[in-house]
Amino acid sequence: MSLIQPIIEQIEKRDPNETEFHQAVQEVLYSLEKVIDAFPAVQFHKVVERMVEPERVVSFRVPWVDDNEDLQINRGFRVEMNSALGPYKGGLRLHASVNQSIMKFLAFEQVFKNSLTGLSLGGGKGGSDFNPKGKSDLEVMRFCQSFMTELYRHIGEHTDVPAGDIGVGAREIGFMFGQYKRITNQFTGVLTGKGLGWGGSLIRPEATGYGLIYFSSHMLETRGDTFEGKTCLVSGSGNVAQYTIEKLLELGAKVVTISDSSGFIYDAEGIDRAKLDFIMELKNVRRGRVAEYEQKYPQAVYTATRQNADHNPLWDIKADCAFPCATQNEINEKDAKNLMKNGIMLVAEGANMPTCEEGVKIFLDKGILYGPAKATNAGGVAVSGLEMAQNSSRMVWTRERVDTELQKIMKSIHGMCIEYSSQYSTEGNYVDGANIAGFIRVANAMLDQGYI
Ligand code: NDP
Repeated sequence: MSLIQPIIEQIEKRDPNETEFHQAVQEVLYSLEKVIDAFPAVQFHKVVERMVEPERVVSFRVPWVDDNEDLQINRGFRVEMNSALGPYKGGLRLHASVNQSIMKFLAFEQVFKNSLTGLSLGGGKGGSDFNPKGKSDLEVMRFCQSFMTELYRHIGEHTDVPAGDIGVGAREIGFMFGQYKRITNQFTGVLTGKGLGWGGSLIRPEATGYGLIYFSSHMLETRGDTFEGKTCLVSGSGNVAQYTIEKLLELGAKVVTISDSSGFIYDAEGIDRAKLDFIMELKNVRRGRVAEYEQKYPQAVYTATRQNADHNPLWDIKADCAFPCATQNEINEKDAKNLMKNGIMLVAEGANMPTCEEGVKIFLDKGILYGPAKATNAGGVAVSGLEMAQNSSRMVWTRERVDTELQKIMKSIHGMCIEYSSQYSTEGNYVDGANIAGFIRVANAMLDQGYI
């Protein structure tokens, strides 16, 4: 009898509306069945039962005043999922779609991802349904200050160390850090992704995108291949997408797409360094829309997002490799089929859970190189861990040192995925490899600490 199914049924019964959380849990638990069966005496399923229940969920009111002096209210969250390996660690997301299900799915994924890095990091996630689009700098500042006025009592350098995520970059981390410092009168490494002049780490902005491509290079190596001359699809145009493109360009690949929530750009000639600089200025400084790319580079084609469309035409462009770097469930079953039809050989996830369950199944069944987020995008949190180490020792590491550490960590995660997939599943099944390797380290710590 399956020891996993009752756990899945229980979470579905308890929180029937948390569909993203159910999806993330199911994907992990089906991988774990093999390891649970292999060690019946350890009762790993009892550990799993605990792992799907957050250690703590904080939900709070965030009142703020907009530029028209209207009173606004948002909901803030921090899900402290698991601290078996260290302080809770995971980003803060500011996006209109944020709700408890999305927070819990992200926090759950984060636990396994952080374990894979080999660093002393527990897992958590937080954020708010505040929509930063179209808000002035002062509105964002007032929101961040109000958000931190409640969050500060739940976090700390040894307790919980948040970072950025969708809608939270250097500007928002700065505003939040400033407010934390005012309230607590402490200058500590309580947030990562800080400005370089005041405690941030070199390579942190680049880390998720670079790490994604380091990992993907190892995947290609298993088939004796490289990125040289490969045509690549990238979705998103934020932090992860930008540095994914930068590293792909360095390795001789050709990137032909970017997107945002309004639509996508197809540039058949390829996005070169000058075009990437334009995208960075557009998104990071002017906070504009990717549609502007077509005006600047008229050979490119812009396609607006169609509401309720049954697929995303970005994933129907012929290419060798695909890097979803925008958001969850951006590749549905039809998208996955389109990618396969066009001969895709590698899909590696920059975003968290960008591929729906049916899509994952298609990639695994077809035997392409498929890298799941918790392994492939772990570079961001890994360098956040290195930022914490630098803050604790009051030292600043060089760019080369951080990049070398990042490369080592991504290589080690890749190695663990291969090792654990060949031991418990099929060699090269990165989903099973990442889930099992991530789980075992956390589970053993929980057992040592008394099944807590
Ligand atoms: P950013 O806010 O910098 O960029 C997000 C990008 O995705 C934007 O282009 C945004 O478009 C687009 N996007 C967001 N929501 C949607 C949506 N519902 N539909 C279509 N496009 C959307 O975020 P990041 O680059 O930091 O994060 C991207 C992904 O990577 C997320 O899944 C995040 O969890 C994951 N991640 C990030 C890490 C990091 O270090 N930053 C670490 C690990 C994972 P628009 O401008 O229109 O909103």
